Amino acid sequence: MTANPPEHTGRRDLDPHLARYAARTAGMTASEIRALFAVASRPEVVSLAGGMPNLAALPLDSLSSQVGEIIAEDGLVALQYGSAQGVPVLREQICEVMAMEGINAHSDDVVVTVGSQMGLDMVTRLFCDPGDVVLAEGPSYVGALGSFAAYQAKVVHVVMDDQGLVPEALREALAAAERAGQRVKFLYTIPNFHNPAGVTLAVERRAEILAICRAHGVLVVEDNPYGLLGFDGQTYPALRSLDPDNVVYLGSFSKTFASGLRVGWVLAPHAVREKLVLAAESATLCPPSLNQMIVSRYLATHDWKGQIKTFRENYRERRDAMLSALEQHLPSGCSWTNPDGGFYVWVTVPEGVDTKAMLPRAVTARVAYASGTGFYADGFGSRQMRLSYCYPTPERIKEGVRRLAAVLESEMDL
Ligand code: PMP
Repeated sequence: MTANPPEHTGRRDLDPHLARYAARTAGMTASEIRALFAVASRPEVVSLAGGMPNLAALPLDSLSSQVGEIIAEDGLVALQYGSAQGVPVLREQICEVMAMEGINAHSDDVVVTVGSQMGLDMVTRLFCDPGDVVLAEGPSYVGALGSFAAYQAKVVHVVMDDQGLVPEALREALAAAERAGQRVKFLYTIPNFHNPAGVTLAVERRAEILAICRAHGVLVVEDNPYGLLGFDGQTYPALRSLDPDNVVYLGSFSKTFASGLRVGWVLAPHAVREKLVLAAESATLCPPSLNQMIVSRYLATHDWKGQIKTFRENYRERRDAMLSALEQHLPSGCSWTNPDGGFYVWVTVPEGVDTKAMLPRAVTARVAYASGTGFYADGFGSRQMRLSYCYPTPERIKEGVRRLAAVLESEMDL
């Protein structure tokens, strides 16, 4: 006779460590997007869900020999611990990259991170106590929302329009927080080619937003991984360039070179730099030496600006394919943003359609997207979805949008 399997009566049975977790882990839930990865990556599904950069244009052969050279010439440094702040020569090169968006920085104020995701984590760790308010665009980057949740910060969303964050809405959010006696620690903003909204903050609004934050004693955290991916090669003045003492800037090589190397950086106001280095040290001791040296050599020897131009051209072709397919196939009542750089289009569907509830039916119809609720901390976004055009081929994008339109149409008939 076989014994009955134990009955699962609750999560405690599934995870015997449940009672041990710190209170802050309550906010750590799997992002809807990550939960979707497994199904969305099946080959028959056209995934418009993920935000993976398209690396096919990278010069793999020459990169491969350069990695060999680094190890042959400087292996005992490349394979050793390094400075917590990052390799000095790379920090200088990072200043040159940032100069393309008007930033005049000293390499002493740059802290290299394991992707800008680590920068987000560190900045939140430095500034947020449980219950502190972080203002963020609505919608906002899912990875940032994850960091804010992990430190138990309360996210208050500020609306955007097609010109980015709305200054008046920012004023209102700050006034409301002050009336409620809440401490607002920083405004988290993605000014260029927003993830997920696909919009860019109008240049005329930039000084105004900085002035509002200053007047209320609120720091600005500027997250700018896409700034060099404007389809016409256009760049915008970084917020950091306009108010160096009140802006923490997060940068990354993930979209302009190679996301798997996990090399990003934080440029902090000088006064913050020391605390940031201590936070970096306690998180990782130091960023990976070899990866930093790969990026540094790449910047020194490759036509990296030409490579970014190639990336931009690939993304522009895909953006065009997506926008024309949306125009051609999506049922009336749908609207979407018109990105002039970056990876994403933000779609609003007619009332009555719930993008989260629709997702399993879309996956059955072999197309995946990221439903809008994952980009809000407050449950909003059920009539929105993010479509990424960065990774699939233009043909797959068109096919994906065609499938999505069919799912939407049958949803609207229900
Ligand atoms: N911020 C934004 C707005 C992003 O879109 C991403 C990546 N999707 C990141 C930060 C994290 O990038 P990294 O690879 O540098 O950690």
